[in-house]
Amino acid sequence: MSRDTERDEWFRDGLSFRCTQCGNCCTGPPGFVWFDEEEAQAMAAYLKLEVNEFRRRFARFQFGRWTLGEIKREGRYDCVFLRRDRDGKALCSVYPVRPQQCRTWPFWPENLRSRRDWDESAKTCPGMKNGGDFYPADQVRIILDSNPDTL
Ligand code: SF4
Repeated sequence: MSRDTERDEWFRDGLSFRCTQCGNCCTGPPGFVWFDEEEAQAMAAYLKLEVNEFRRRFARFQFGRWTLGEIKREGRYDCVFLRRDRDGKALCSVYPVRPQQCRTWPFWPENLRSRRDWDESAKTCPGMKNGGDFYPADQVRIILDSNPDTL
């Protein structure tokens, strides 16, 4: 059995996920949403800003790379692009051009190491445990392998 096959064995029957827009993954303790140059350009263009202006207003440089900024609200750290509709549902104000790190949630390496890791993250991400859209194992692997480094 190859290492990849061993790694993926527990989700061979596929996984289900559908975002409920609770916003839990866009807030909480301080965190990082890393983005690369291409993603910076896409977000800046979407906001009709120069890239440097985009970085100055919405990002910070940490550990040698760029991450989206955060806004502290009621003791929690919201992604700088998190908005809420009237019902409290989370909305991303750069959704069409959001970074790959956001696009690939919850199919991140740390969630896919084991069923236990998946279930642990599902405690705060209701989209991971309430049925939702079915992702066959092959599709999960493709998303997993398209992940940037999320650590
Ligand atoms: S925590 Fe899960 S369900 Fe909630 S907004 Fe994020 S992806 Fe969607």
